[in-house]
Amino acid sequence: MTITIETDVLVLGSGPGGYSAAFRAADLGLDVTMVERYPTLGGVCLNIGCIPSKALLHVASVLTEVDTAGNLGISLGAPKVDLTRVRSYKDQVVAKLVQGVGGMAKSRGIRTVQGEGHFSDAHLLQVVQGDKQTNIRFRYAIISAGSRPVSLPFIPDDPRVWSSTQALQLNTVPKRLLVLGGGIIGLEMATVYQALGSQVSIVEFADQLIPAADKDLVGIYQRYNQQRFDIRLNTKVTRVEAREDALHVTATETKSGEWTESFDAILVAVGRRPNGDCIGVESAGIQVDDQGFIPVDRQQRTAVPHIFAIGDVVGNPMLAHKASHEGHVAAEVIAGHNAAFNPLTIPSIAYTDPEIAWTGLTEKEAKLKGLNYATASFPWSASGRALGADRSEGKTKLIYDSGKGTLLGGGIVGKNAGELIGELSLAIEFSADIEDIALTVHAHPTLHETVGLAAELANGTVTDILNPKAIKKKVVA
Ligand code: NAD
Repeated sequence: MTITIETDVLVLGSGPGGYSAAFRAADLGLDVTMVERYPTLGGVCLNIGCIPSKALLHVASVLTEVDTAGNLGISLGAPKVDLTRVRSYKDQVVAKLVQGVGGMAKSRGIRTVQGEGHFSDAHLLQVVQGDKQTNIRFRYAIISAGSRPVSLPFIPDDPRVWSSTQALQLNTVPKRLLVLGGGIIGLEMATVYQALGSQVSIVEFADQLIPAADKDLVGIYQRYNQQRFDIRLNTKVTRVEAREDALHVTATETKSGEWTESFDAILVAVGRRPNGDCIGVESAGIQVDDQGFIPVDRQQRTAVPHIFAIGDVVGNPMLAHKASHEGHVAAEVIAGHNAAFNPLTIPSIAYTDPEIAWTGLTEKEAKLKGLNYATASFPWSASGRALGADRSEGKTKLIYDSGKGTLLGGGIVGKNAGELIGELSLAIEFSADIEDIALTVHAHPTLHETVGLAAELANGTVTDILNPKAIKKKVVA
C-alpha cells in the first residue's frame, strides 16, 4: 500500500532535536510531519540513552548511599536488588516521558509517520514500514536522524557483547564486566553495574578517562573510584574471543605489554557515528563529509537551501541539549525569523559518581589556543555543605582571562556537579567576569557557593580558605 502526503515541514527523526524542531515549527503556525522508525517518539535520548541511564544511575546512587551509610553511624543490611523491578522502574520513567512527547505532538496537530525514511529527491522522502510506503512531499525538511554506536571490527557477534542499548536493558548483572572505552557512556554504565555488584574493568586507550575533560578534574574522579573500578589507561584491546566459558580479551598496554583475561560481558562504548550516511541524503543533493557529518551553516541550512540538519548528524558534541537548540533555530529560520545557532558554550556532564561537568573552554583548550588565562580552584574539603554530606572530594575550578577577568570556562567535579554547572554557563553567556561572580551573594551553606568562593579566590577576596593574594603584614618599626 502506498500513500502520498504533502507537508510544509518534514522532520526526519523524533529525538530531542527532531521533536523540539517539530514542536517549535508547529507553534510558529507551520504544517509539520515528523517521521520516526521506532514505535515511540523521543529517539535514543528518551528510549535508550540519557533517560533510562539516569534512572539506573539513580538506583546506583541509592545503593551507594546505603553502602556508605556506615560512615554516618547508620547500620543497614546488604540491600537486596530485584532486577525485574529495577527494570520496570526504569521503563516507567521512559514511558512517562515518551507518552508526554507523543501527547504534545498530537496536541500541536503534528502528523507522525512511522517507518524508515529515505530521500528520493530534494522534495520527496519515502517512508517504508513493512509493506506500507508513505511518500512525503515537503517544502522544507529538517534532518535529525541522530547517531549509532561505533562498532569495532574484531569484536565477535555474541549476546555477551553489549552496546549501550543492551547494557540499559539490564537483563543480567555479569560477575566480570569489561567496559571498552572510558568516555561518558562507558563510565556511566560502569557506575550502574558496579553498584549492582559487577566487578568492572575499564579499558581506555588515551592516557586519561574522558579525554576531552581537564585532567585534574578527571583525576579526582579516578582517585575517588580507585577501589571501585580496575582502570587501565593507555590500553588497546586487540582481540576478543567468544568461548563458551567466557569472553577472552587480549589487550596491549603501552608500557607493560600484552595481557589476556576473561570476562562475562563486554560493553563497547568507543563513540558514536552520525546516521547521515543511511538516509539517502545524496539523492537530495547533500554530501556527508569524511566523518559522516552533514555540513550546515549557522542557520542549520545544508548545501540544499530548503533542507536543514540538526543534532548528532551535523557534528560534535553529540548532546541532546545542543540538538534541541539547533532544532529551534531551524524551525525559526523556516518560519522566516532571523535566527542562528551561536552559543558561547554547550555544557557537558558525565553523570558519574562523583559527577564531572564542564562548560566553556577547558584549561587544555585555553592552553592550546595560547590564551592569557588563569585558574582558581575551590576545594570542597573547605565546603561545609560537602563535608556535611560526606562528599568532600570535589572541586570547583574557574578558568578566566588573566587580563580582563572574563570567565572563559569552568569545571566542577563532585556530587551534583551537573546541577551546579548551569550557573557557569549563564555567566559565560552573559560575559561575566570574576568580580561579577565574586560579588554575587551565594547562599550558605550550599554546593553552589563553591562557584562564588572560587571567584573570590581569583578576585583576591576569599576568606573561607587562605588567601594567596592577602597583603603581608607590614612590620611596624
Ligand atoms: P566518547 O567518544 O565520549 O568516548 C569513547 C572513549 O573510548 C574515548 O575516551 C576513546 O579514547 C575510547 N576509545 C575509542 N576506541 C577505543 C579502543 N579501541 N580501545 C579503548 N578505548 C577506546 O564516546 P561514548 O562514551 O561512546 O559516547 C558517545 C557520544 O554520546 C559522545 O558524544 C557523548 O558525549 C554522548 N553521550 C553523552 C552523555 C551525557 O551527556 N551524559 C551520555 C552518554 C553519551
